[in-house]
Amino acid sequence: FFIVIEGIDGTGKSTQVARLGAWLTAQGREVVLSREPTAGPWGRKVRESAATGRLSPEEELEYFLNDRREHVEELIRPSLAAGKVVILDRYYFSTMAYQSSRGFDPQEIRKRNELFAPVPDLLLVMDLDVDAALLRIGARGDVANEFEKRENLQHCRDVFLSLREEPFVEVIPCGGSLDEVTELVNQIVSTRLLE
Ligand code: C5P
Repeated sequence: FFIVIEGIDGTGKSTQVARLGAWLTAQGREVVLSREPTAGPWGRKVRESAATGRLSPEEELEYFLNDRREHVEELIRPSLAAGKVVILDRYYFSTMAYQSSRGFDPQEIRKRNELFAPVPDLLLVMDLDVDAALLRIGARGDVANEFEKRENLQHCRDVFLSLREEPFVEVIPCGGSLDEVTELVNQIVSTRLLE
C-alpha cells in the first residue's frame, strides 16, 4: 500500500508522516518511510542549490526527475513488491506544485512523472490557508520576501487543491491541533487500507 503526504510548508507533513508510520508499525505492518528530495546524489544537489543559488528551471526539474527515478527503482517499487506500506513525505505532486511556479505546466510535469513513477493508493493533501502557514513557518519580516513567499505558497496550495476530485486523494484540513489532524489521518488510512 502506497501513501503519499503532500502540502505546503507549515502544514505539519513531517510530523504526520512519523506518527502514521509509528501507528501502522504498532499494528504489525511493515512500514517504510521516505522523503523527497532524497539523500541520494540528485536529491542532495537540489537541496544544496537552495543554499548556493538556484539551478535553472530546466535543470531543477531534471534533477527532481532523476532523483525520483532512483527513488522509485531502488526503494519504492521493491518495498511495495515486498508487501510493505510505503509512506512518502513529498512526491511528484510537489514537483507539480513548486516547479510549475517556475514556468512549467503542472499537467505536463505530471505526465512526465507518471511515465515511470507509480500513482499512490492514497494521497493525503495537508491543507492550511497561506496566512496560517506563514505564521507557522515564521516567515514574517522582510516585506518583499514575504510577498514573494505568499504568492508562491498560494500557487502551490492551489495546485495541491486542484487534485481533490481524484479518487485516490483526500484533503485534510490542518488548522486544528496536531492530535486532531492525526486522528483524521488515522481514520482515513484505516478505511482505505480495508477497502
Ligand atoms: O520537504 P521540505 O519541507 O524539507 O521542503 C523544503 C523546501 O523545498 C520547500 O519549502 C520547497 O520550497 C522546496 N521544494 C521545491 N520543489 C519540490 C519540493 C520541495 O522547491 N519539488
